[in-house]
Amino acid sequence: MLSDKNIRHLSLAELEQYMETCGEKKFRAAQVWEWLWQKHAHSFDAMTNLSKELRTRLAGDFLLPALSIQAVQQSEDGTVKSRFETHDHHYVEGVLIPAESRLTACVSSQIGCSLSCRFCATGYMERKRNLLYDEIYDEVVLINQQSEKNYQKKLSNIVFMGMGEPLLNYKNVLKAIERITAPDGLAMSPRRITVSTAGVAKMIQQLGDDEVRFKLALSLHATNDAKRNQIMPINESNNIRALVEALNYFYRKTGNEITLEYILFKDFNDSLKDADELIKIFRQVPADLVNIIEYNSIDNAQFQKPEEEKVERFINHLAKNRVNARLRRSRGKDIDAACGQLANKS
Ligand code: SF4
Repeated sequence: MLSDKNIRHLSLAELEQYMETCGEKKFRAAQVWEWLWQKHAHSFDAMTNLSKELRTRLAGDFLLPALSIQAVQQSEDGTVKSRFETHDHHYVEGVLIPAESRLTACVSSQIGCSLSCRFCATGYMERKRNLLYDEIYDEVVLINQQSEKNYQKKLSNIVFMGMGEPLLNYKNVLKAIERITAPDGLAMSPRRITVSTAGVAKMIQQLGDDEVRFKLALSLHATNDAKRNQIMPINESNNIRALVEALNYFYRKTGNEITLEYILFKDFNDSLKDADELIKIFRQVPADLVNIIEYNSIDNAQFQKPEEEKVERFINHLAKNRVNARLRRSRGKDIDAACGQLANKS
């Protein structure tokens, strides 16, 4: 008997072997595979090109758990936030973000998060468990269906910036991306996928060793250890120096430039001195872009966003020093779907 009865945790070769033991032709495995990863079947009964007998047998031997949508909220700016329910009744959130030239899915990788970043709503939730790769895949499939329904277009980009630290769920995130990019999966380009990390140096190096082809973003948010420790406890064990080294290693192995993410907090990290420190770090790492992110308030934290002039001054200072920086305006603020706001609130 298989220890893991989830049929999507079998490889194609294992499915073929299973069919053989059932006395079925090998091509039946490919048919099932297609139902699982391309036709998104949620029951064995839906696999209509298989005999009734085989479908009954599969249903007896395997489970086919899938994520379902429990609630949907639509922002006035077109952003759609979904609350997904797992088979064991946990909830995670994912967001569809429409922009002029792209349709982006922001997906979660864990149920809750253990890193407790002070500015992030998810950081105040307990981490329940990692999402499995088929669950992450389902998030993308469901958000893609919303994209096709609302905007008549498929998703163009995926960012792992939802709930959880993707590099602390390394295997499932990589396997999900393998399925999302596979020709017999969703066939999306890895260049359109960005994994964003709070900074787990060892795992950034691992990404280098695994020569991944997707993009990497580092949530920096503070430019020296004293400040970063205050808002991101993970910095105590993964300081800026270790992260700079890991990012350079990643670049040597993959040739992929990275993006730095920087949320501006009023009177905390928005001075020109902070900008100068950011410029220094930018020069030390293989980064092609700094995303300046508008802070979105959450219930638990005291931070505020700086005045517009201060934001402008900060960005102009970066530009004057030849740092490629752009301001990322928040989307979906009215439904708590913006960056840092995901917390299963509804
Ligand atoms: S910002 Fe990311 S890593 Fe930090 S607490 Fe929130 S979800 Fe976790």
